[in-house]
Amino acid sequence: MITLSFYGAAGTVTGSKNLLTVNGKKVLVDCGMFQGAKWLRKRNWVPMPFEPSEIEAVILTHAHVDHIGYLPRLVNGGFKGKVYATPPTIELARILLMDSARIQEEDAEYRNRKKATSHPEALPLFTTSDARAASERFAPLTFNRWRQLDDKIKFRYHPAGHIVGAASVEVRADDGSRKTSILFSGDVGRYSVPLVREPVRPPETDYLVVESTYGGEVHEPQDIFYELARLLDEVIANRSILLIPAFAVGRTQQITYAVNVLIRQGRIPSIPIHVDSPMAVRATDIYRRFPSYHGINRKELTRKANVLYGDNVKLHRKRKSSKKLNRLRGPAVIISASGMMTGGRILHHLINRLPDPGTTLLIVGFMAEGTIGRKIHDGAPMVYIHKMPVEVKARVVKLMGLSGHADSFELMHWLEPLNKGPRRVFVTHGEMSRSEAMARQLKETRGWNTHIPALDETVEL
Ligand SMILES: [Zn+2]
Repeated sequence: MITLSFYGAAGTVTGSKNLLTVNGKKVLVDCGMFQGAKWLRKRNWVPMPFEPSEIEAVILTHAHVDHIGYLPRLVNGGFKGKVYATPPTIELARILLMDSARIQEEDAEYRNRKKATSHPEALPLFTTSDARAASERFAPLTFNRWRQLDDKIKFRYHPAGHIVGAASVEVRADDGSRKTSILFSGDVGRYSVPLVREPVRPPETDYLVVESTYGGEVHEPQDIFYELARLLDEVIANRSILLIPAFAVGRTQQITYAVNVLIRQGRIPSIPIHVDSPMAVRATDIYRRFPSYHGINRKELTRKANVLYGDNVKLHRKRKSSKKLNRLRGPAVIISASGMMTGGRILHHLINRLPDPGTTLLIVGFMAEGTIGRKIHDGAPMVYIHKMPVEVKARVVKLMGLSGHADSFELMHWLEPLNKGPRRVFVTHGEMSRSEAMARQLKETRGWNTHIPALDETVEL
């Protein structure tokens, strides 16, 4: 018997956890943390709906925290197997898990000190030692190579674009009476975005688990370079600050790279870019070590001079130099994480700059429901940061051209080559209205048998 359980990213975008069971053998595809709204974050704390020690292996699609961030708890809970991922995903995941643990430890410490917690004691979801233990379980697997887990299950990765190292997973399962295939889309990237490979043609499959982050929505067609140049020209003319909340590894480098190209081409004058992230330096290392995963020549990525960080880019590692940026005057760009404004150094920049009408806040990625980022994206005049009200007087601009996620048009384009049509399609990883839009579109245009699984639902394949 083969079953599939959806323990995350069902009717929501975060917490991706798909449990595949083949005759009792359990494999988890993605092991993400719930983020955003409080009712979702609370789910990170409830007992797991499965026994971690019974899981034989974890297969990761990519290194975003909503796909990997629950690993330390899984390991802490008794998981002893291997965690498969592509080599760049492993490197990114190690950095991100450690960083996430550190932020949580600091946050818990801050809340306890300020008594800003409704619990007897604020606790981190996982500690740095949990993150370290999780990092030891990684096993690398490159694209297009089959990995046989045993006689029942094998799988391979296909490039999915999105971020460096991101993959879709094709699983073949055999329960003794029949063979079947399941394709997990992972997060599907966009076409023609700088520094990211394009998603490749997916293989024919019996079952499809597809994301729907932007189901029913189409990104406005934007020339990223043109729009960025226009915005930077304004920032330079007004001597103002452009504040960009961005995922520290990936999106940050896309932005510095794009600005660098504009400066080199003489389309804009040079402008200081402050990358306020201790991870940015390590990120360059990752890009340098895996040129085939993003297509930039290794020679252009030396430690000193490279196309990701030009002379105008200053990296801020220390907290003290980050705080100094509060007094920085324009024209300048500040890029800081976290991308959805849920934690990290971006928060003190928001507290400092949001009330200033002279600041432009640039939104470049997806903002999940319940995050500060989503509230600002949707035009809230005020947001709460660390329980303090902060007025939003800054100008808010959106540039979805750098979004890591395919829109519904691109998702349909990606699925185009599937002629046979899967027996059943599970639409996941989207807010309800978007998953519904995606399911409707697949049903109407392709005639596919779609289903939007509920959180914790198990289906028999
Ligand atoms: Zn992602």
